[in-house]
Amino acid sequence: MKAFTFDQLPARIVFAPGALSQVGAEAERLGAERLMLVHDNATTAHAAAIADQLGARLALRWGEVAQHVPVELAERAREAATAAAIDAVVTLGGGSSTGLAKAIALTHRVPIIAVPTTYAGSEQTTIYGLTGGQHKQTGKDPVVLPRVVVYDPELTLGLPGFVTGPSAFNALAHSVEALWAPGCNPITSALALEGVRAIAASLPTVMSEPANVDARGDLLYGAALSGMALGATSAGLHHKLCHVLGGRFDLVHADAHSVVLPHALAFNAPVLPAEMARLADALGAHGEDPAGALWDLAERSQVPTRLAGLSGRDGPLQRELLGEAAAIAAQEITVNPRPVTEADLLGILERAFDGTRP
Ligand code: NAD
Repeated sequence: MKAFTFDQLPARIVFAPGALSQVGAEAERLGAERLMLVHDNATTAHAAAIADQLGARLALRWGEVAQHVPVELAERAREAATAAAIDAVVTLGGGSSTGLAKAIALTHRVPIIAVPTTYAGSEQTTIYGLTGGQHKQTGKDPVVLPRVVVYDPELTLGLPGFVTGPSAFNALAHSVEALWAPGCNPITSALALEGVRAIAASLPTVMSEPANVDARGDLLYGAALSGMALGATSAGLHHKLCHVLGGRFDLVHADAHSVVLPHALAFNAPVLPAEMARLADALGAHGEDPAGALWDLAERSQVPTRLAGLSGRDGPLQRELLGEAAAIAAQEITVNPRPVTEADLLGILERAFDGTRP
């Protein structure tokens, strides 16, 4: 019996195909009178449905979103929120939309209703991130945790494969690292292992049958659990590497996850035998090496497996830049189950660059 303390985060979850139609009622339940609706280009049609439900309570509609929440964008959105005297934010879209809503909630201290349409999981955490220049800074504040999350698998049916697969790996990464991240306990591990199981079991079906609402629902459920596992623990070595790759080179966040995860896991595996055995079971790869099983799942799901193939703001990522990324990450990684040096981080990044099976 392991003694533990678990701070359960106070979010309400509404999960159903068609749950989009409940957003207006959820806003009313919160008592919000002047709502700001944040969404991205890809979700404009669903945003119109939410706008209809909110009617006169919609004080501001904001359709400009960018990956990693640039500070300049957050400032403009905050000014508009002030001018419209909002008292709540509805966010529709992926982690970038949720991230912008969090930036607004942080300064305006208003509640968020989140309607996620990817598997990023940000809607279940108190973590916010803002990018100034080439550096992404993250912090935690309970006010940015959405008060209500409306999960509607039907909203994800049109999510293209090149977003679906990597985004599912972003969720997987949350659960995998939650198995040993500071703050982990038997409850967070139960959430994480069920998250891994649901994602690994549904992702191949979703990739081959993108409009399969049951498989989409299972994947979204796994992503929700993974977000909860991350929200109750903390981000580890793998996430820090992905944040550096995203902040410094502007790589697509989710792509970085699918490439780096098997290699980051392989580095820590030797010191985590019990966790690896449970993870292998959850992946349906009993008795196998989970790092290899994750790489196989990535291959089967046609997600990126090589950093060499990814492009950022300066074009295709070059091997010579990996040393810089390792140096930045080494400054940020303070806790890891296995002692890790800058040279180790460079090794992980180089193996991810080549993308061979760990
Ligand atoms: P994203 O929000 O940028 O979405 C990826 C792409 O999918 C975008 O082009 C978007 O327009 C499109 N899209 C979204 N929903 C769609 C739909 N239903 N149909 C078609 N296209 C759709 O990226 P993401 O991977 O969801 O989130 C990544 C961001 O979230 C990163 O900035 C990351 O740091 C952040 N994040 C934060 C946390 C946290 O706890 N704070 C957790 C995970 C991720």
